[in-house]
Amino acid sequence: MIDFDYVRANDVGDALSQITKHQAAKFIAGGTNLIDLMKEDVEQPTRLIDITGLPLNEIHETQTGGLKIGALVPNSDLAYDERITQRYPLLSSAILAGASPQLRNMASTGGNLLQRTRCLYFYDTATPCNKRSPGSGCGATEGFNRMNAILGWSKSCIAVHPSDMCVALSALEAVVHVAGPKGDRAIKSADFHRLPGDTPEIDANLARDEIITAIELPSEEFPRNYSYLKIRDRLSYAFALVSVAAALRIEAGAMTCARLALGGVAHKPWRAPDAEQSLEGKRPSREAFAEAADIILQGAVGFAHNRFKIELARRAIVRALEQAAAGTPQSQSVKMIV
Ligand code: SF4
Repeated sequence: MIDFDYVRANDVGDALSQITKHQAAKFIAGGTNLIDLMKEDVEQPTRLIDITGLPLNEIHETQTGGLKIGALVPNSDLAYDERITQRYPLLSSAILAGASPQLRNMASTGGNLLQRTRCLYFYDTATPCNKRSPGSGCGATEGFNRMNAILGWSKSCIAVHPSDMCVALSALEAVVHVAGPKGDRAIKSADFHRLPGDTPEIDANLARDEIITAIELPSEEFPRNYSYLKIRDRLSYAFALVSVAAALRIEAGAMTCARLALGGVAHKPWRAPDAEQSLEGKRPSREAFAEAADIILQGAVGFAHNRFKIELARRAIVRALEQAAAGTPQSQSVKMIV
């Protein structure tokens, strides 16, 4: 049993003031990951600061033609919001591929970004884990590593980021807005999550005393040529072995913009700009897609139980790009997610 205080924050300033005063405090919103971590004794906050009363639960149009999503907008509301289903269906598809309806009702958009890895050893406090207990070792490297990374891992940690939503946000080049004692700042989604290096205990480039206030979607929407393909062991309520967010702008038969992000393969959503550039200017074809997949996966290295993910990812990238190129009629995309 963990002994902790529970308080509510009245506004963003109050939340920042409270987290600054209490070094072992944590913000809580939906609690869909943090409560599990506390039950397993992985997280031991001495104070929970409830931020659900903060005015961060609306979606606004931006002056540049995009959308700004409050950090407390529930995942379900976001996935079914008409502005998202019509203009950013890639994001709807990714959110609805994750978790269960009950969890999506509770989980907040900001919290989704901050959920922690589901590496088995991270949750098992009887085993070594550098992410949970820095310097203790990595149980997964020589253990059961079917769900672990093939790209960007380090000797310290081979965990993957578990979110589906973040893979789509990465492909859409979303921006994360945060507030902190030193002021507000905006972080590109590509820079928000980090690779493990020697400090796998740090998941994201967000200071302990900062709070996510919003996620901004740029005006490039990809309403038709997109695909979120998630490969997993079960048809629902399972984390990705590999997932691919693909989005294309096709003009006069040629790809003028290509976005690709992979989930389930690295400590962060994996982007490869050179693979995207290899597609631009070409007509959609299996050969072009296979070449892009080769570029993305050229540095991939697997472990005893997850080497299959390299070929799986290669095929998933090609398939997702084929689906994106074929296009999803808008009526079908709405029908699919309602
Ligand atoms: Fe811990 Fe990372 Fe190793 Fe998993 S892969 S046991 S999270 S250090």
